Amino acid sequence: MSVRVRFAPSPTGFLHIGGLRTALYNYLFARHHGGTFVLRIEDTDQNRYVEGAEEDIIKSLEWAGMTIDEGPNKPGDVGPYRQSERKTMYAEYAKQLVDGGHAYYAFDTTEEIDEMRERLKKSGNPSPSYDSITRQSMKNSLTLPQDEVEKRLENGDEYVIRLKVPRRETVKFEDLVRGIVSFETGGLDDQVLMKSDGMPTYHLANVVDDHTMGITHVIRGEEWLSSAPKHMLLYNAFGWEPPTMAHLPLIMSPSGGKLSKRKAESEGIPVNTKDYISGNYEPEALVNFLAYLGWSPGDDSEIHDMKELCELFALDRVSKGGAVFNHKKLMWYNEHYIRETSVSELVPRIKALAEAQGFDTKDEEYLTKVIELLHERVSKIDEFVSMGSFFFEAPKEYDENALKKWKEDSAGFVKAYESKIEALSESDFIAANLKSALEETVAENEVGFGKVMMPVRIVTTGQGFGPDLFASLELIGKEETLSRIDSALKQLT
Ligand code: GLU
Repeated sequence: MSVRVRFAPSPTGFLHIGGLRTALYNYLFARHHGGTFVLRIEDTDQNRYVEGAEEDIIKSLEWAGMTIDEGPNKPGDVGPYRQSERKTMYAEYAKQLVDGGHAYYAFDTTEEIDEMRERLKKSGNPSPSYDSITRQSMKNSLTLPQDEVEKRLENGDEYVIRLKVPRRETVKFEDLVRGIVSFETGGLDDQVLMKSDGMPTYHLANVVDDHTMGITHVIRGEEWLSSAPKHMLLYNAFGWEPPTMAHLPLIMSPSGGKLSKRKAESEGIPVNTKDYISGNYEPEALVNFLAYLGWSPGDDSEIHDMKELCELFALDRVSKGGAVFNHKKLMWYNEHYIRETSVSELVPRIKALAEAQGFDTKDEEYLTKVIELLHERVSKIDEFVSMGSFFFEAPKEYDENALKKWKEDSAGFVKAYESKIEALSESDFIAANLKSALEETVAENEVGFGKVMMPVRIVTTGQGFGPDLFASLELIGKEETLSRIDSALKQLT
């Protein structure tokens, strides 16, 4: 049997980073087994539907390098791939459950259900629900006479279809991550399967689709574990073989607790995939990082690209415990993948970023040299532009922290250095000579290297640190370097 997995997001907003990890684990599992990766859009909840969410999901998966084998954008044999387009199918399956005695029509109004809850609360039940006991005193096809049920259905009375959860049973299944999981049905309510508007709930649609789409493994977040027993009851009721389950550990915030949107924001962690795209992260870095957020290959290797991850990935190495989102680690990966990228590949990307900042990048040879100088220093691609802005324009201001090192004698040292490099011809204005000039200035004034170097760096780049200063000045050129020194001295003295 060949592996078929699905990523089944609800289009209720931008794709969350946790959703991207779920998609990734499904994708890696599919590729590892030569299987199929399906995208199914679970859009039965019309109230929570967000325009553009599906496009965002597809764009995010593509950006991360996950190819969808079947989905709304690439129909296969088991479509449609949007649940809203499968509506008639769910009604038929729900009817099948009613006919088989596994589900029933319930005609209770919201008020009647509230009343039941109030009544039970008063008699000491803290969380009453519509279940195997309370259903007996409600208005449904199990309690009403057959002819009244038929009449109500004919009249078009509002109803929902509920799952008839058995009173005392143990639902047991093996989860590939969590081992044997067991639930008592006594704790379950009679889940609504079809709503009064004729739409299925998540539970019914999910089970019908996983079955009819031939899904072999359900890999999803731990927050769905509590739904699994209901799904198992449904598979049983239909007489279908359930898919193998794997519930992934929660993603935790560094300060503890689940990485919610609010927590992530307060800790400076981008929460939606689109923020990583617009934030210029390397997709390979995010993929590598997310793969390790709840899984590891079992040795101490850490760097693997998508291809290697596909080879290595196995569900039995997914951890049960929550995985802490460590943003520093992500930046470490990001840095690594930037170093791995060749300068020629970086050029067009940085050109676009620099142009967006209004910098002139027509001289590609110049841009290439800038990139070479900064390649080992940046951890995100946009830093080529922010850290390297002085290669494109004279500093407009001087970094406050750096200026703390600007002392009374600084201007004098800068002038002494200036007079030496002024004497160099254009063709001699090269890193080695610029360095000797600084060494001479240092020796003549009998001071430490930093006493001269730091002020020169500040006046020419505006910053207190950066790439090799002499190579930078060579690149900026004689005329520009001298003009920067002059205007800085005017401002700073
Ligand atoms: N639609 C659910 C979600 O938004 C899918 C859960 C599942 O994979 O069964 O995550």
